[in-house]
Amino acid sequence: MRIFSRRTVLGDGEDDALRIGPATVVCEGSRIASVEEGEPGEFDLDLGDKLLSPAFVDSHTHVALHALRGIGFAETTGNVVEDLFYRFEELLTAEDVAAFARMGAYDRLLSGVGLVWDHYFYGEAIARALADLPMCAVIAPTVQDLAGPGKHRWEEELDATIRLAADEDLADRGVTVALGPHATDTVSAHLWQRVLDEHDALGVPLHAHLAQSVEEDERCRERHNVSCVRWLQDLGVLEVPAVYAHALFVTAAELESFADRHTLVACPHAQLHFGFPARIDLWQRSGARWTVATDAAASNDSCSLREELRYAAGFATAPASFSPAYGAFLHESGPARSVWAARTRARHQLAEHTTPAALLHKVWGFAGSLHPRIRAGVIAPGALANLVAWDLEDPAVWPAHDPFAALVYADAERAIDTMIVAGQVVGTPGDLRRSVTTSDTFREHREEAAGRLAALLKRLGR
Ligand SMILES: [Zn+2]
Repeated sequence: MRIFSRRTVLGDGEDDALRIGPATVVCEGSRIASVEEGEPGEFDLDLGDKLLSPAFVDSHTHVALHALRGIGFAETTGNVVEDLFYRFEELLTAEDVAAFARMGAYDRLLSGVGLVWDHYFYGEAIARALADLPMCAVIAPTVQDLAGPGKHRWEEELDATIRLAADEDLADRGVTVALGPHATDTVSAHLWQRVLDEHDALGVPLHAHLAQSVEEDERCRERHNVSCVRWLQDLGVLEVPAVYAHALFVTAAELESFADRHTLVACPHAQLHFGFPARIDLWQRSGARWTVATDAAASNDSCSLREELRYAAGFATAPASFSPAYGAFLHESGPARSVWAARTRARHQLAEHTTPAALLHKVWGFAGSLHPRIRAGVIAPGALANLVAWDLEDPAVWPAHDPFAALVYADAERAIDTMIVAGQVVGTPGDLRRSVTTSDTFREHREEAAGRLAALLKRLGR
Protein backbone atom coordinates (compact mmCIF):
# COMPACT_ATOMS: atom_id res chain seq x y z
CA MET A 1 0.00 0.00 0.00
CA ARG A 2 1.29 3.46 -0.95
CA ILE A 3 0.11 6.34 1.24
CA PHE A 4 0.77 9.96 0.33
CA SER A 5 0.57 13.04 2.52
CA ARG A 6 1.90 16.52 1.85
CA ARG A 7 2.55 16.75 5.59
CA THR A 8 4.35 13.58 6.62
CA VAL A 9 6.32 13.56 9.87
CA LEU A 10 9.87 12.62 8.93
CA GLY A 11 13.05 12.17 10.98
CA ASP A 12 13.70 9.90 13.95
CA GLY A 13 13.75 12.63 16.59
CA GLU A 14 17.28 11.60 17.66
CA ASP A 15 20.06 12.36 15.17
CA ASP A 16 17.56 13.41 12.54
CA ALA A 17 15.24 16.09 13.97
CA LEU A 18 11.50 15.71 13.40
CA ARG A 19 10.26 17.67 10.40
CA ILE A 20 7.20 17.77 8.17
CA GLY A 21 7.25 17.37 4.40
CA PRO A 22 5.60 15.65 1.42
CA ALA A 23 6.22 11.91 1.23
CA THR A 24 4.80 8.62 0.03
CA VAL A 25 4.98 5.87 2.65
CA VAL A 26 5.17 2.41 1.10
CA CYS A 27 3.89 -0.36 3.38
CA GLU A 28 4.47 -4.08 2.85
CA GLY A 29 2.72 -6.36 5.32
CA SER A 30 2.99 -4.89 8.81
CA ARG A 31 6.13 -2.88 8.04
CA ILE A 32 7.15 0.27 6.19
CA ALA A 33 9.18 -0.80 3.16
CA SER A 34 10.31 2.65 2.02
CA VAL A 35 9.63 6.36 2.32
CA GLU A 36 9.79 8.42 -0.85
CA GLU A 37 10.14 12.09 -0.03
CA GLY A 38 8.76 14.69 -2.43
CA GLU A 39 5.61 15.00 -4.54
CA PRO A 40 3.75 11.76 -5.24
CA GLY A 41 3.99 9.31 -8.07
CA GLU A 42 1.36 6.61 -7.68
CA PHE A 43 -0.51 6.01 -4.44
CA ASP A 44 -3.42 3.98 -3.01
CA LEU A 45 -4.41 6.41 -0.28
CA ASP A 46 -4.11 10.18 -0.70
CA LEU A 47 -4.22 12.01 2.62
CA GLY A 48 -3.62 15.40 1.02
CA ASP A 49 -2.79 18.01 3.67
CA LYS A 50 -3.64 15.79 6.61
CA LEU A 51 -0.70 15.34 8.98
CA LEU A 52 0.64 11.79 8.67
CA SER A 53 2.51 10.85 11.84
CA PRO A 54 3.69 7.67 13.50
CA ALA A 55 1.13 6.16 15.89
CA PHE A 56 1.95 6.48 19.60
CA VAL A 57 3.71 3.82 21.68
CA ASP A 58 2.26 3.22 25.17
CA SER A 59 5.18 1.70 27.05
CA HIS A 60 3.47 0.52 30.22
CA THR A 61 -0.12 -0.61 30.30
CA HIS A 62 -2.55 -3.35 31.28
CA VAL A 63 -5.21 -3.24 28.56
CA ALA A 64 -7.38 -5.90 30.24
CA LEU A 65 -7.81 -3.74 33.35
CA HIS A 66 -10.16 -1.64 31.23
CA ALA A 67 -12.90 -3.75 32.79
CA LEU A 68 -12.27 -2.05 36.15
CA ARG A 69 -12.53 1.52 34.84
CA GLY A 70 -14.02 3.76 37.54
CA ILE A 71 -14.28 1.02 40.10
CA GLY A 72 -11.17 2.06 42.02
CA PHE A 73 -12.32 5.63 42.62
CA ALA A 74 -14.32 4.80 45.72
CA GLU A 75 -11.49 2.75 47.19
CA THR A 76 -8.29 4.71 46.95
CA THR A 77 -7.61 4.96 50.67
CA GLY A 78 -5.74 1.68 51.02
CA ASN A 79 -3.62 -0.25 48.56
CA VAL A 80 -6.20 -0.53 45.78
CA VAL A 81 -4.06 -2.92 43.79
CA GLU A 82 -3.95 -5.48 46.59
CA ASP A 83 -7.38 -4.88 48.13
CA LEU A 84 -9.59 -4.86 45.07
CA PHE A 85 -7.75 -5.76 41.88
CA TYR A 86 -6.34 -8.98 43.29
CA ARG A 87 -9.75 -10.30 44.33
CA PHE A 88 -11.11 -9.54 40.87
CA GLU A 89 -8.06 -10.92 39.11
CA GLU A 90 -8.17 -14.21 40.98
CA LEU A 91 -11.47 -14.99 39.24
CA LEU A 92 -10.30 -14.22 35.70
CA THR A 93 -10.01 -16.81 32.93
CA ALA A 94 -7.95 -16.47 29.75
CA GLU A 95 -11.17 -15.78 27.83
CA ASP A 96 -12.17 -13.00 30.24
CA VAL A 97 -8.75 -11.40 29.92
CA ALA A 98 -8.86 -11.55 26.10
CA ALA A 99 -12.33 -9.99 26.03
CA PHE A 100 -11.36 -7.12 28.35
CA ALA A 101 -8.02 -6.63 26.57
CA ARG A 102 -9.86 -6.00 23.29
CA MET A 103 -11.91 -3.21 24.88
CA GLY A 104 -8.79 -1.61 26.34
CA ALA A 105 -7.07 -1.87 22.99
CA TYR A 106 -10.00 -0.26 21.13
CA ASP A 107 -9.77 2.77 23.43
CA ARG A 108 -6.08 3.17 22.71
CA LEU A 109 -6.53 2.51 19.02
CA LEU A 110 -9.08 5.33 18.76
CA SER A 111 -6.71 7.72 20.52
CA GLY A 112 -3.76 7.18 18.23
CA VAL A 113 -1.84 4.32 19.88
CA GLY A 114 -0.47 1.59 17.60
CA LEU A 115 1.83 -0.31 19.96
CA VAL A 116 1.35 -1.18 23.63
CA TRP A 117 3.78 -2.67 26.14
CA ASP A 118 1.31 -4.79 28.06
CA HIS A 119 1.99 -6.56 31.35
CA TYR A 120 -0.63 -9.05 32.49
CA PHE A 121 -1.66 -12.60 33.27
CA TYR A 122 -2.75 -14.85 30.39
CA GLY A 123 -0.30 -12.97 28.17
CA GLU A 124 -0.75 -15.46 25.36
CA ALA A 125 -4.50 -14.82 25.16
CA ILE A 126 -3.85 -11.06 25.09
CA ALA A 127 -1.24 -11.43 22.34
CA ARG A 128 -3.68 -13.24 20.05
CA ALA A 129 -6.62 -10.95 20.84
CA LEU A 130 -4.58 -7.84 20.07
CA ALA A 131 -3.01 -9.23 16.91
CA ASP A 132 -6.51 -9.86 15.53
CA LEU A 133 -7.79 -6.37 16.33
CA PRO A 134 -5.16 -5.21 15.06
CA MET A 135 -2.95 -3.71 17.77
CA CYS A 136 0.80 -4.19 17.88
CA ALA A 137 2.17 -5.20 21.24
CA VAL A 138 5.13 -6.14 23.36
CA ILE A 139 3.46 -8.67 25.64
CA ALA A 140 4.97 -9.37 29.05
CA PRO A 141 3.11 -12.30 30.61
CA THR A 142 3.17 -11.46 34.33
CA VAL A 143 5.30 -13.77 36.46
CA GLN A 144 5.15 -13.69 40.26
CA ASP A 145 5.69 -16.48 42.77
CA LEU A 146 5.47 -14.86 46.23
CA ALA A 147 2.17 -13.03 46.17
CA GLY A 148 -0.57 -11.81 43.88
CA PRO A 149 -3.25 -13.46 41.80
CA GLY A 150 -0.78 -15.03 39.36
CA LYS A 151 1.25 -16.72 42.10
CA HIS A 152 0.36 -20.25 41.01
CA ARG A 153 0.65 -19.55 37.29
CA TRP A 154 4.21 -18.30 36.97
CA GLU A 155 5.53 -21.38 35.22
CA GLU A 156 2.72 -21.27 32.67
CA GLU A 157 3.32 -17.56 32.05
CA LEU A 158 7.05 -18.12 31.63
CA ASP A 159 6.38 -20.95 29.19
CA ALA A 160 3.98 -18.67 27.33
CA THR A 161 6.72 -16.03 27.13
CA ILE A 162 9.05 -18.54 25.51
CA ARG A 163 6.34 -19.72 23.09
CA LEU A 164 5.41 -16.17 22.12
CA ALA A 165 9.05 -15.28 21.53
CA ALA A 166 9.24 -18.03 18.91
CA ASP A 167 5.92 -17.25 17.22
CA GLU A 168 6.76 -15.94 13.77
CA ASP A 169 3.16 -15.37 12.75
CA LEU A 170 2.67 -12.98 15.67
CA ALA A 171 6.02 -11.33 14.94
CA ASP A 172 4.85 -10.70 11.37
CA ARG A 173 1.78 -8.97 12.80
CA GLY A 174 3.83 -6.73 15.08
CA VAL A 175 3.40 -8.66 18.31
CA THR A 176 6.45 -9.66 20.30
CA VAL A 177 7.34 -10.41 23.88
CA ALA A 178 9.19 -9.11 26.95
CA LEU A 179 9.93 -10.89 30.21
CA GLY A 180 7.43 -9.79 32.85
CA PRO A 181 8.59 -10.17 36.45
CA HIS A 182 5.89 -8.35 38.39
CA ALA A 183 7.78 -6.43 41.13
CA THR A 184 10.40 -6.82 43.86
CA ASP A 185 7.94 -7.91 46.55
CA THR A 186 6.07 -10.47 44.46
CA VAL A 187 9.00 -12.22 42.76
CA SER A 188 11.56 -14.34 44.66
CA ALA A 189 15.32 -14.18 44.12
CA HIS A 190 15.06 -17.63 42.54
CA LEU A 191 12.49 -16.45 39.99
CA TRP A 192 14.44 -13.26 39.19
CA GLN A 193 17.33 -15.59 38.39
CA ARG A 194 15.10 -17.67 36.10
CA VAL A 195 14.06 -14.46 34.36
CA LEU A 196 17.73 -13.52 33.86
CA ASP A 197 18.41 -16.98 32.40
CA GLU A 198 15.50 -16.57 29.97
CA HIS A 199 16.78 -13.12 29.08
CA ASP A 200 20.10 -14.70 28.12
CA ALA A 201 18.26 -17.29 26.01
CA LEU A 202 15.71 -15.02 24.31
CA GLY A 203 17.49 -11.68 24.20
CA VAL A 204 14.33 -9.73 25.01
CA PRO A 205 14.17 -6.96 27.63
CA LEU A 206 12.50 -7.11 31.04
CA HIS A 207 9.33 -5.14 31.75
CA ALA A 208 8.61 -4.79 35.48
CA HIS A 209 7.08 -2.56 38.11
CA LEU A 210 9.68 -1.02 40.38
CA ALA A 211 9.28 0.49 43.85
CA GLN A 212 5.68 1.44 43.17
CA SER A 213 4.22 1.30 46.68
CA VAL A 214 5.21 1.93 50.28
CA GLU A 215 4.48 -1.75 50.96
CA GLU A 216 6.95 -2.83 48.28
CA ASP A 217 9.64 -0.58 49.74
CA GLU A 218 9.05 -1.81 53.31
CA ARG A 219 8.90 -5.49 52.33
CA CYS A 220 12.18 -5.23 50.47
CA ARG A 221 13.91 -3.58 53.42
CA GLU A 222 12.44 -6.12 55.88
CA ARG A 223 13.31 -9.16 53.79
CA HIS A 224 16.65 -8.15 52.33
CA ASN A 225 17.78 -5.16 54.40
CA VAL A 226 18.14 -3.08 51.25
CA SER A 227 15.95 -0.93 48.99
CA CYS A 228 14.19 -2.31 45.91
CA VAL A 229 16.82 -0.91 43.55
CA ARG A 230 19.75 -2.14 45.65
CA TRP A 231 18.22 -5.63 45.81
CA LEU A 232 17.86 -5.78 42.02
CA GLN A 233 21.44 -4.56 41.74
CA ASP A 234 22.63 -7.33 44.11
CA LEU A 235 20.75 -9.92 42.05
CA GLY A 236 22.39 -8.74 38.83
CA VAL A 237 19.05 -7.67 37.37
CA LEU A 238 20.29 -4.15 36.59
CA GLU A 239 22.85 -5.66 34.21
CA VAL A 240 20.18 -6.35 31.57
CA PRO A 241 17.94 -4.03 29.51
CA ALA A 242 14.63 -3.26 31.17
CA VAL A 243 11.61 -1.00 31.21
CA TYR A 244 10.63 -0.08 34.78
CA ALA A 245 7.24 1.39 35.56
CA HIS A 246 6.71 3.94 38.34
CA ALA A 247 10.07 3.96 40.19
CA LEU A 248 8.57 6.10 42.96
CA PHE A 249 10.54 4.90 46.00
CA VAL A 250 13.92 5.31 44.35
CA THR A 251 16.48 7.58 45.99
CA ALA A 252 18.40 10.34 44.24
CA ALA A 253 21.60 8.29 44.41
CA GLU A 254 19.82 5.22 43.00
CA LEU A 255 18.48 7.26 40.10
CA GLU A 256 22.10 7.79 39.11
CA SER A 257 22.65 4.00 38.95
CA PHE A 258 20.36 3.57 35.94
CA ALA A 259 22.10 3.29 32.60
CA ASP A 260 21.24 3.54 28.90
CA ARG A 261 19.84 0.01 29.00
CA HIS A 262 17.15 1.10 31.48
CA THR A 263 14.04 3.16 30.83
CA LEU A 264 11.84 4.55 33.60
CA VAL A 265 8.17 5.01 32.84
CA ALA A 266 5.99 7.54 34.61
CA CYS A 267 2.22 7.13 34.41
CA PRO A 268 1.26 10.67 35.47
CA HIS A 269 -2.52 10.45 35.63
CA ALA A 270 -2.54 7.05 37.32
CA GLN A 271 -0.03 8.34 39.83
CA LEU A 272 -2.06 11.51 40.42
CA HIS A 273 -5.04 9.29 41.11
CA PHE A 274 -3.05 7.38 43.71
CA GLY A 275 -1.77 10.69 45.02
CA PHE A 276 1.95 10.44 44.34
CA PRO A 277 3.25 11.45 40.90
CA ALA A 278 6.80 10.52 39.89
CA ARG A 279 9.33 13.38 39.84
CA ILE A 280 10.21 13.25 36.17
CA ASP A 281 12.06 16.54 36.60
CA LEU A 282 14.45 14.73 38.97
CA TRP A 283 14.65 11.77 36.59
CA GLN A 284 15.67 14.13 33.83
CA ARG A 285 18.28 15.87 35.99
CA SER A 286 19.76 12.53 37.08
CA GLY A 287 20.27 11.56 33.44
CA ALA A 288 17.85 8.60 33.57
CA ARG A 289 16.07 7.73 30.33
CA TRP A 290 12.33 8.11 30.76
CA THR A 291 9.00 8.24 29.04
CA VAL A 292 5.33 8.40 29.97
CA ALA A 293 2.57 5.81 29.64
CA THR A 294 -1.06 5.29 30.65
CA ASP A 295 -0.87 2.28 33.02
CA ALA A 296 -4.54 1.23 33.04
CA ALA A 297 -8.04 2.60 32.87
CA ALA A 298 -8.59 1.08 36.31
CA SER A 299 -6.04 3.39 37.90
CA ASN A 300 -6.48 6.32 35.60
CA ASP A 301 -9.82 6.12 33.77
CA SER A 302 -8.42 7.87 30.73
CA CYS A 303 -6.10 6.10 28.35
CA SER A 304 -4.91 9.08 26.37
CA LEU A 305 -1.17 9.05 25.97
CA ARG A 306 -1.39 12.60 24.66
CA GLU A 307 -2.82 13.76 27.97
CA GLU A 308 0.11 12.15 29.74
CA LEU A 309 2.40 14.26 27.56
CA ARG A 310 0.56 17.41 28.49
CA TYR A 311 0.97 16.55 32.15
CA ALA A 312 4.69 15.89 31.64
CA ALA A 313 5.00 19.32 30.06
CA GLY A 314 3.55 20.80 33.26
CA PHE A 315 6.52 19.51 35.21
CA ALA A 316 8.53 22.32 33.70
CA THR A 317 6.59 24.85 35.76
CA ALA A 318 4.63 23.10 38.55
CA PRO A 319 7.57 22.87 41.01
CA ALA A 320 7.38 26.62 41.68
CA SER A 321 4.02 26.13 43.41
CA PHE A 322 5.68 23.79 45.94
CA SER A 323 8.96 25.68 46.30
CA PRO A 324 10.41 27.05 49.56
CA ALA A 325 10.22 30.48 47.92
CA TYR A 326 6.45 30.19 47.59
CA GLY A 327 6.24 28.84 51.15
CA ALA A 328 8.06 31.97 52.31
CA PHE A 329 5.73 34.18 50.29
CA LEU A 330 2.66 32.48 51.80
CA HIS A 331 3.98 33.20 55.29
CA GLU A 332 4.84 36.81 54.45
CA SER A 333 8.57 36.25 54.75
CA GLY A 334 9.57 36.31 51.11
CA PRO A 335 8.85 38.39 47.98
CA ALA A 336 6.81 37.38 44.92
CA ARG A 337 9.92 37.97 42.81
CA SER A 338 11.66 34.97 44.50
CA VAL A 339 8.72 32.74 43.59
CA TRP A 340 9.04 33.90 40.00
CA ALA A 341 12.78 33.17 40.08
CA ALA A 342 12.03 29.61 41.30
CA ARG A 343 9.49 29.20 38.50
CA THR A 344 11.93 30.44 35.89
CA ARG A 345 14.69 28.13 37.17
CA ALA A 346 12.41 25.07 37.08
CA ARG A 347 11.19 25.96 33.62
CA HIS A 348 14.71 26.48 32.35
CA GLN A 349 15.88 23.09 33.66
CA LEU A 350 13.29 21.13 31.71
CA ALA A 351 12.73 23.51 28.81
CA GLU A 352 14.54 21.57 26.09
CA HIS A 353 13.00 18.27 27.24
CA THR A 354 9.44 19.51 27.24
CA THR A 355 9.16 21.11 23.83
CA PRO A 356 6.29 19.55 21.82
CA ALA A 357 8.76 17.71 19.55
CA ALA A 358 10.78 16.40 22.52
CA LEU A 359 7.63 15.17 24.25
CA LEU A 360 6.28 13.52 21.11
CA HIS A 361 9.63 11.82 20.62
CA LYS A 362 9.12 10.17 24.05
CA VAL A 363 6.04 8.32 22.75
CA TRP A 364 7.19 8.03 19.14
CA GLY A 365 10.77 7.14 18.25
CA PHE A 366 12.16 6.78 21.77
CA ALA A 367 9.42 4.48 23.11
CA GLY A 368 9.51 2.70 19.75
CA SER A 369 13.22 1.91 20.14
CA LEU A 370 13.02 0.00 23.43
CA HIS A 371 12.71 -3.50 21.98
CA PRO A 372 15.41 -5.05 19.81
CA ARG A 373 12.90 -6.98 17.69
CA ILE A 374 10.57 -4.12 16.89
CA ARG A 375 10.99 -0.58 15.65
CA ALA A 376 8.05 1.79 15.95
CA GLY A 377 7.12 5.41 16.43
CA VAL A 378 8.97 6.53 13.33
CA ILE A 379 8.12 6.73 9.63
CA ALA A 380 11.16 4.93 8.26
CA PRO A 381 11.95 1.70 6.40
CA GLY A 382 11.70 -1.38 8.64
CA ALA A 383 9.47 0.28 11.25
CA LEU A 384 5.97 -0.99 11.97
CA ALA A 385 3.44 0.56 9.59
CA ASN A 386 1.59 2.21 12.48
CA LEU A 387 0.35 5.56 11.20
CA VAL A 388 -2.13 8.25 12.16
CA ALA A 389 -3.58 10.90 9.85
CA TRP A 390 -4.71 14.01 11.73
CA ASP A 391 -7.18 16.43 10.15
CA LEU A 392 -5.61 19.79 10.94
CA GLU A 393 -8.80 21.55 9.75
CA ASP A 394 -10.72 20.06 12.69
CA PRO A 395 -11.62 22.79 15.22
CA ALA A 396 -9.97 20.70 17.96
CA VAL A 397 -6.55 21.52 16.48
CA TRP A 398 -7.15 24.36 13.98
CA PRO A 399 -5.24 26.43 12.92
CA ALA A 400 -2.31 24.22 14.01
CA HIS A 401 0.39 26.74 13.17
CA ASP A 402 2.67 24.37 15.05
CA PRO A 403 1.24 20.88 14.40
CA PHE A 404 3.48 19.27 17.07
CA ALA A 405 2.20 21.72 19.70
CA ALA A 406 -1.37 20.96 18.60
CA LEU A 407 -0.79 17.21 19.04
CA VAL A 408 0.45 17.70 22.62
CA TYR A 409 -1.67 20.58 23.91
CA ALA A 410 -4.97 20.40 22.00
CA ASP A 411 -7.55 17.62 22.34
CA ALA A 412 -6.11 16.17 19.18
CA GLU A 413 -7.76 12.72 19.35
CA ARG A 414 -10.90 14.34 17.97
CA ALA A 415 -8.95 15.21 14.83
CA ILE A 416 -7.84 11.65 14.05
CA ASP A 417 -8.99 10.96 10.52
CA THR A 418 -7.35 7.65 9.67
CA MET A 419 -5.53 5.01 11.68
CA ILE A 420 -3.28 2.34 10.21
CA VAL A 421 -1.93 -0.42 12.46
CA ALA A 422 0.43 -3.17 11.31
CA GLY A 423 -0.17 -2.00 7.75
CA GLN A 424 -3.97 -2.39 8.02
CA VAL A 425 -6.39 0.51 7.70
CA VAL A 426 -8.63 0.47 10.79
CA GLY A 427 -12.30 1.16 10.04
CA THR A 428 -13.04 3.70 7.28
CA PRO A 429 -10.60 6.52 6.47
CA GLY A 430 -12.17 9.84 7.45
CA ASP A 431 -14.70 8.12 9.70
CA LEU A 432 -12.56 6.21 12.16
CA ARG A 433 -14.45 6.34 15.46
CA ARG A 434 -17.95 5.90 14.04
CA SER A 435 -16.94 3.16 11.62
CA VAL A 436 -15.20 1.16 14.36
CA THR A 437 -17.76 1.59 17.12
CA THR A 438 -20.72 0.76 14.88
CA SER A 439 -19.09 -2.30 13.34
CA ASP A 440 -20.51 -5.76 14.01
CA THR A 441 -17.10 -6.89 15.24
CA PHE A 442 -16.91 -4.16 17.87
CA ARG A 443 -20.48 -4.86 19.00
CA GLU A 444 -19.69 -8.54 19.43
CA HIS A 445 -16.52 -7.77 21.34
CA ARG A 446 -18.26 -5.27 23.60
CA GLU A 447 -21.19 -7.57 24.31
CA GLU A 448 -18.89 -10.43 25.17
CA ALA A 449 -16.84 -8.22 27.51
CA ALA A 450 -19.97 -6.79 29.14
CA GLY A 451 -21.41 -10.25 29.78
CA ARG A 452 -18.18 -11.52 31.29
CA LEU A 453 -17.78 -8.41 33.45
CA ALA A 454 -21.32 -8.65 34.81
CA ALA A 455 -20.77 -12.30 35.75
CA LEU A 456 -17.48 -11.55 37.53
CA LEU A 457 -18.89 -8.57 39.48
CA LYS A 458 -21.80 -10.71 40.57
CA ARG A 459 -19.39 -13.26 41.98
CA LEU A 460 -17.63 -10.45 43.86
CA GLY A 461 -20.98 -9.33 45.25
CA ARG A 462 -20.89 -5.93 43.52
ZN1 LIG B 1 1.20 -0.96 35.95
